Amino acid sequence: MSDTENEKPKLGMRAPLAIKRTVETGKVKQSFSHGRQNTVIVETKKARVFRKPGEGPAEASAPAPEPALEAAAPVAAPAPVAVPRPPASNETAQERQTRMLREAEDQRMQALEEARRREERERVEASEAEARRAEEKARAEAEAAQAAAPAPEPEAKAAEPAPEPAPAPAAAPTTAPKPTPAPAPAPAPEPVAIQLDPSRPAPRLFTPVQRPEIPKPQPKPEPQPAQPAQRPAAAASPSAPAARPAVGGGPAPIRRGPEPARPQQRDRKGDDRRQSGKLTVNRALGGDDGARARSLAALKRAREKESRRSFGGPREPQIKQVRDVVVPEAITVQELANCMAEKGSDLVKALFKMGMPVTITQTIDQDTAELLVTEFGHNIVRVSESDVDIQADTSEDAAELLQPRSPVVTIMGHVDHGKTSLLDALRGTDVVKGEAGGITQHIGAYQVTLKDKSRITFLDTPGHEAFTQMRARGADITDIVVLVVAANDGLMPQTIEAINHTKAAGVPMIVAINKVDLDSANPQRVRERLLEHDVQVEEMGGETQDVEVSALKKIGLDALIEKIQLQAELLDLKANPDREAEGTVIEAKLDKGRGPVATVLVNRGTLKVGDVFVIGAESGKVRALVNDKGQQVKEAGPAVPVEVLGLSGVPMAGDPLQVVENEARAREVAEYRQGVALQKRTTNAPASLESMFSALKEKQAMEYPLVVKADTQGTVEAIVAAINKISTDDIKARVLHAGVGGITESDVTLAGAAGAPIIGFNVRPNAKAREIAERNKVAFKYYDVIYDLTDEIRAGMAGQLGPEAFETVVGRAEIKEVFSAGKHGKAAGLLVTDGVIRKALKARITRDDVIIYQGEIASLRRFKDDVAEVRAGLECGVTFSQNFTDIKAGDYLETFEVELRERTL
Ligand code: GDP
Repeated sequence: MSDTENEKPKLGMRAPLAIKRTVETGKVKQSFSHGRQNTVIVETKKARVFRKPGEGPAEASAPAPEPALEAAAPVAAPAPVAVPRPPASNETAQERQTRMLREAEDQRMQALEEARRREERERVEASEAEARRAEEKARAEAEAAQAAAPAPEPEAKAAEPAPEPAPAPAAAPTTAPKPTPAPAPAPAPEPVAIQLDPSRPAPRLFTPVQRPEIPKPQPKPEPQPAQPAQRPAAAASPSAPAARPAVGGGPAPIRRGPEPARPQQRDRKGDDRRQSGKLTVNRALGGDDGARARSLAALKRAREKESRRSFGGPREPQIKQVRDVVVPEAITVQELANCMAEKGSDLVKALFKMGMPVTITQTIDQDTAELLVTEFGHNIVRVSESDVDIQADTSEDAAELLQPRSPVVTIMGHVDHGKTSLLDALRGTDVVKGEAGGITQHIGAYQVTLKDKSRITFLDTPGHEAFTQMRARGADITDIVVLVVAANDGLMPQTIEAINHTKAAGVPMIVAINKVDLDSANPQRVRERLLEHDVQVEEMGGETQDVEVSALKKIGLDALIEKIQLQAELLDLKANPDREAEGTVIEAKLDKGRGPVATVLVNRGTLKVGDVFVIGAESGKVRALVNDKGQQVKEAGPAVPVEVLGLSGVPMAGDPLQVVENEARAREVAEYRQGVALQKRTTNAPASLESMFSALKEKQAMEYPLVVKADTQGTVEAIVAAINKISTDDIKARVLHAGVGGITESDVTLAGAAGAPIIGFNVRPNAKAREIAERNKVAFKYYDVIYDLTDEIRAGMAGQLGPEAFETVVGRAEIKEVFSAGKHGKAAGLLVTDGVIRKALKARITRDDVIIYQGEIASLRRFKDDVAEVRAGLECGVTFSQNFTDIKAGDYLETFEVELRERTL
């Protein structure tokens, strides 16, 4: 503070008082010779007044401080032009700031002026154009009177320049105004009118003459540099011009030229004239000052207009491109729009009109997509996921490519009639077997080489159902069936079954009457009995070949082989070995050491090591081929059974094998097939018997999965057998899993994945399984009598289901202790964990989730008092009906009510 006080200027040098700091003050220390010093106060006034023409004199005082500043500093040059660049040594920070502020202010003013002038110029140009138009019109009208017109014209011309910008007369040589004066039209009245009222700011008709002003200053940019010095002399000169050189030194002179000539005319018109020398951004960037750059918005508008003209207007004449739109089973509106090269919003609009309010991201089906595609004039190409799959090649090979192949023979017949023995005996005739010394491998099929080098392929005797199942999957691989009938036993149920299966397959049959070595053998009776089943053997005048054999004594084997060969000859079995292999899985397993292995019978073509294939829902590349003698082979031709190694998983018997071009394709097909199989299991599989029946009604479910849990292994087998027996052509039960013990969470998960109901036979689910079942909506079906189970399914199939029993669990309790209860056997001490235990309720006791008792609660006591019910959290003692005594601590009690309800399918 004291410093500042000390530095206070002396009397008379005090900083001027001001309310607002419009005046910047500063001190300048002057040093003279002999150590003399002087401090002067420097004031800088901000120039902030609009320099409108009328305010000229008032403003003139504003710049005054500038020279004052210079004057105060004797060192400073008197020229005001030097103000922006005062000697750096003398300029304090404050001064510099002041100067910069002033300059900025000047620039701002300039910009304002510039804007105003531009506006003015535009207006002028507009009016000029208008005037021109008017003149032309007038000219046309006054064509006839043109001769008389010249007289007033000069008058008008003379009048024009007078009040307006001085350079107007000079306009004559310039090109722009020429059209106006040259033809010397007769716009006489207008100039006169203007002349009469000179006070009016800018009569429109005068504007044309302003144009010459712009070029006019151009010829004399040179005098300008000399002028700045003189300029301050012109007292009226505002501060603004002083700043200009600093802003844009170059263009400024252009403007300045005419200025001194008409100082009093620094009105708008004068400004207009000056604008030509202005430095604008456009000009600085190289733009022509004559042509104003179009704004971005204007460009946009123009472009839109252009596009509207090209697209909007002549829409019809435009040739629409018709596309082939590939539509899968489901597609989103957006994707479809992209495929059609149409706007998504147009599609949404079209759908809305069809009454389908969908969003652009929603998925529509193929039919809806077709409507849209046709609506927009395109062609639809429907594709579906199944296109990925390889369809079985049904094309026939050319006759010349076919070569004879060995017959494929299946041996069928009743159990114990000697099928296996006969097969073994026939294999014993194999000449190669002895030579190679190989060990026979069980691969499900065998090839026997006969003495004449011809071969016969025998399939391991499959069960009749398996035979038919393979057929159902399209695997009609058997050429000839050998029906084995024991001569001593005659026709048995399975013999008849075999006859029916063979007939259904339409495969020729050879009857081998076995065990003829036995004394009790009666082949003739067999032949007669066969007649009952519409099988006439040759001896009985029919066409079916028959042969008496003894597998044990190797009797008649050659005759059998001969008849097989004869039959094969009749069938004229041929196949093309020179093509990509097609085959059928005879059996498949997961081998511990070798991974998934499938025995494949090649139908046609030749399967080679290294071939990439799809086999059912699995894929793979042939890693190795092993024949029935355990030998590795390089390839397998038609009717040759081989074990194939290199599969991704275990396929099912009857699955077709197809060789494909590459592994990617194989994987793609396998994935698709797996997806289909999964979908079939999860969507079509019924979750309960009821839904199974209703699905059956719609002929959707030909097969339904089940999970069976029972208390003993014997029961499990009995149930599975019973369920299999119920299966008909319309409905086939497939037991996903059958096991002994309570229903566990893994059972529920498995059933849930396949949408299968769980059949609990004398077993209950544990708490965790119950919880998961509730969540996954898995149905439990409890039975304690197999007949109930089979009856229910059968009745359901026949559509005669009676009322359904619904169980409601009322309470659960844990058995804590077991007491002797006199003549009532044993009583259980319980802790009720859930719900209530009531007298006379149905009850069951489970031990490890297996039901050990089912009956009723005979008596219920609490502290030696008979009570009607006991709630959760309390203890009580119960005895059971039927004097059940096999109770143990740790068993669980469940009380339940049964309600019979009408079924709703
Ligand atoms: P599969 O159940 O049809 O395969 O019958 P098998 O081949 O297992 O034979 C059942 C029983 O019949 C076995 O004990 C064989 O020894 C016996 N067997 C099979 N063929 C003959 C035969 O030609 N003569 C005699 N005496 N017994 C035979």
